[in-house]
This record gives sequence, C-alpha cells and structure tokens, in this order.
Amino acid sequence: MTFPPLREDLRGIEPYGAPQLDVPVQLNVNENPYAPSATVVADISASVAAAASTLNRYPDREFTELRERLADYLNTSGGSGIAATGVWAANGSNEVMLQLLQAFGGPGRCALSFAPTYAMYPEYARDTVTGWVEGRRETDFELDLDAARELVLEHRPSVVLLPSPNNPTGTALPPEAISVLCEAAGDGLVVVDEAYGEFRRAGTPSALELLAQYRNLVVTRTMSKAFALAGARLGYLAADPAICDALRVVRLPYHLSAVTQATALAALRHAPELLAQVDALRAERDACVTWLAEQGLRVATSDANFVLFGGLVDRHAVWQGLLDRGVLIRETGPQGWLRVSVGTPEEMAAFREALVDVMKTQTMEEQR
Ligand code: PMP
Repeated sequence: MTFPPLREDLRGIEPYGAPQLDVPVQLNVNENPYAPSATVVADISASVAAAASTLNRYPDREFTELRERLADYLNTSGGSGIAATGVWAANGSNEVMLQLLQAFGGPGRCALSFAPTYAMYPEYARDTVTGWVEGRRETDFELDLDAARELVLEHRPSVVLLPSPNNPTGTALPPEAISVLCEAAGDGLVVVDEAYGEFRRAGTPSALELLAQYRNLVVTRTMSKAFALAGARLGYLAADPAICDALRVVRLPYHLSAVTQATALAALRHAPELLAQVDALRAERDACVTWLAEQGLRVATSDANFVLFGGLVDRHAVWQGLLDRGVLIRETGPQGWLRVSVGTPEEMAAFREALVDVMKTQTMEEQR
C-alpha cells in the first residue's frame, strides 16, 4: 500500500470544482447575482445570534421546524399536500443526493442518468461504490423516451437521476417523461433534481405535481439558486415518508448545524422577497437566448438560470478570451459549447460586449 492509502479507484482523480477566480463578472456557477437585502441579512443575523447562545448543545437532529417550513414552501411552489414527514434536508442538494445513493445505491446496484448532465452524478455513484450507467440525450438535449425506458428496463437501476431543468443544457423534462420512467423503474427511485426548478418557464410543470401518483418519485430542490443562498448550504427533497425515514439511517448525527437551521428558517420567512428576482432573471435569460441566436450561435432552450451556447470552433479560446476581458463563464458541456450563468443586466451587458469582441478576434485569427 502506498501513502496516503487512498482507494485504488480514487487515485489520480482531480477534485471536482469550477475555478474560483477573482474577476469582476462571475457567471460560472449558476449563482443568483442578487445578494440578500439588508432586511434579510438583519433577520438572518438575529436568528444566528439566538442560535449562538445554545451552541453548547447539539442541534435538533430531526430539524422538525425546518422540515415543516420547507413543506409549506413546496406547497406554494408546484406541490400540494406535502407534509413535514415527506421532506428531508442536508447541506446542499449535493449532500441530499449523496445520501440517496448511500441509502439506495451501493455494491451490486447501479444508478443511471442521461448525458450530457450534471458532472457530480457519476461522482456520487463512485463514492458510494454504486455502478454507473449513462444513457445519451438527443442532439437537442431532449430524451428519446423509448430508448430511455428501454435502458431503465435493461439495467434496473435502484436510482435514476433526472435533472429538470438539466445542467448544463437547461432542458426541462415533460411530465410524461417522468411518468414513463417512474413506471419503468419499478421499485427503483426516480430522483428529479429540480435545483433550478423555480426558473422554469411559464407552462413547464414541476415534478412535485406527480408526487402523489408515484411512491418511487423523489424531487430535490436547493436554496442555492433561486433563493440566493448558495453560501448557506441547504438542499432538500420531497418524497414518500418511507424514503425520508430510510435516509435517517445514513445521515451523520446532527448533520444540519444549528446555524444552518437558523439561517434557512430566517430565509424561508423572507421567501417572497428572496425569490423576487426570479422573474427578472428569467427575462434576462430569455433575452440572452435570443441575443446569442442573433449572433449566429447555436443555443439550447433553457428553463434554468443559465444558457448553453455552441457552434464554437475553439471553445477554450473563447472562454479564455472572455476571462481576459474580466468575464468568467464555464467551459462545460459537449465540445464546442460553453455555459453562461444569468447575472444582473450590467453583468450580461459586459458578457455580450466581451463576447462580440472575442468573436471578432476569433474570426480575424481564422482569416490570417
Ligand atoms: N443539481 C444540479 C443540477 C446542480 O447544477 C447543482 C449545483 N451546481 C446541484 C444539484 C447542487 O447544488 P447545491 O449542493 O448547492 O444544492
């Protein structure tokens, strides 16, 4: 054995993570560009101060009040009749999904998703020694439902991971797709990752509407995106209470700190205010899609707070050119494509200006 005695299958693997660079315009990790207001900051501070006076004690291990308030919120955001017993939370939806694989994956089982998709999914599988099966999305990033169903029937995964909207493409799933896959999965779980759910376009339903129909359906959400609370680390899910109960077996005791619970509860009291920028971000997203198409680029339809655009001969050069002009976006997705998160109108103007400039250089270089 060599030191450190890292698992064989983890040797040489780079830790996942986008570059954290200090540049003026940061549009690379799908954050909400609007910081919490002074009122929200004051309420969070007061709540954390109250929690601080009890920090000699462990927090509420079952985070009962938080589960109740999250259920209330979900019932205003596409869900109905969701109770606290059908809600679970952890430090970011990343941890929620890792716990799902810890409890429902494992050796001899497999998890399945459709690429291109969120790069962390195969990592949850790897870390929990769960097999990994990857289907493909079509060229427009939609699912071929017959092929998807066949793949599920063939591999019988214990967990199917279906982001809607998908990262990095922005593609939302129609409810029929979720129904077909819930039925095909049998007793396996279908996890619809709605990290970006609140940004879906009018007329795109949430998978929460199907919860009562399928006991194997799990819908995950996060406070990192629409709620503008990425730094607090709070993700959650809605599912059959038996699923939530099973997660208690794998969660570490007191995994949600008293500070996290106080912060999330305070933020939920201000949900309408924190979510107020969602409409502005959706409008900015739609404008970005239109503008990119006008530049002659390929653009994926987006229900999220980011846009994937393509048709680039040398995407790394474009990414670097933008960075040189102070605009950080994400080099991800299929070759020839880049992803930009939706920022403030000023940030989007800076992105457009930099991209026009970079594309000029690109053309000039190709002509030379
Ligand atoms: N799901 C998807 C599709 C994501 O893009 C992300 C974050 N980039 C997450 C889940 C995890 O977010 P968090 O852990 O902050 O809730």
